Amino acid sequence: MKFETRELPARKRIAMVAHDHKKDDIIEWAYFNRDMLAKHELFATGTTGRLLEEKLDRPVRKLMSGPLGGDQQIGAMISNGEIDMLIFFWDPMEAQPHDTDIKALLRLAAVWNIPMATDRSTADFLLTSPLMQHKYECKVPDYSTYLKRTIPH
Ligand code: PGA
Repeated sequence: MKFETRELPARKRIAMVAHDHKKDDIIEWAYFNRDMLAKHELFATGTTGRLLEEKLDRPVRKLMSGPLGGDQQIGAMISNGEIDMLIFFWDPMEAQPHDTDIKALLRLAAVWNIPMATDRSTADFLLTSPLMQHKYECKVPDYSTYLKRTIPH
């Protein structure tokens, strides 16, 4: 498979999402890591973003609330190369009304090979990576072959 690269900047655009039972967890995590996060730009689904802004006392670019379209907005931003990292504390113990949107968001993060943490331990490992402070050449499959595929008719 051929690859191309997308450059993730040193100052990362981090999208944060947490389901309701995980909101305390992500707020506590973000507050504990506030100095590190201060070096990056934060985006979040609506409610998660409001709580983060209150606790961190810094601007967070808020999208719509997840179930109202926020997850899909973040997915679109990933596809557009406008988000470099996803921190998504999802709740494995509760079905969500927007399960399909969640699956779509996780899929797009994988399609574009951006770093993604879906639990707190992985988020710790990501945030403490030396790559957080540097530009990173993100390898993405060259989808041009797919785009030029022959459509049977
Ligand atoms: P919320 O959305 O931050 O607006 O609650 C999170 C989610 O996708 O469930």
